[in-house]
Amino acid sequence: MIHRNQDPKLQQIARERIDILFREAKLNPEYANRYVFLARKIAMKLNVKIPKEYKMRYCHNCYKYFTSKNVSIRTNAKTKAVEYRCKACGHANRYGYAREKV
Ligand SMILES: [Zn+2]
Repeated sequence: MIHRNQDPKLQQIARERIDILFREAKLNPEYANRYVFLARKIAMKLNVKIPKEYKMRYCHNCYKYFTSKNVSIRTNAKTKAVEYRCKACGHANRYGYAREKV
């Protein structure tokens, strides 16, 4: 028996909804934080992954959507990673060089 939350059909719908939410977040900065919250909730409920390109668009500590104003992006040679430092909570979100494709 397939558990309801593992149903591939529902998971496909979940992925589509996450995609829509992040596209809308880009267009509507005033609702972006809410959309990130909803996308994460859908992802957790249906056990699907949020695509990497979307995961990099919000803070993993306070879950605020990154805009040009609330994040500083720089490389860190020591950790060999791109650092997305959230200006709201100060958390450094690191993404390794080698895996960087965006
Ligand atoms: Zn943050």
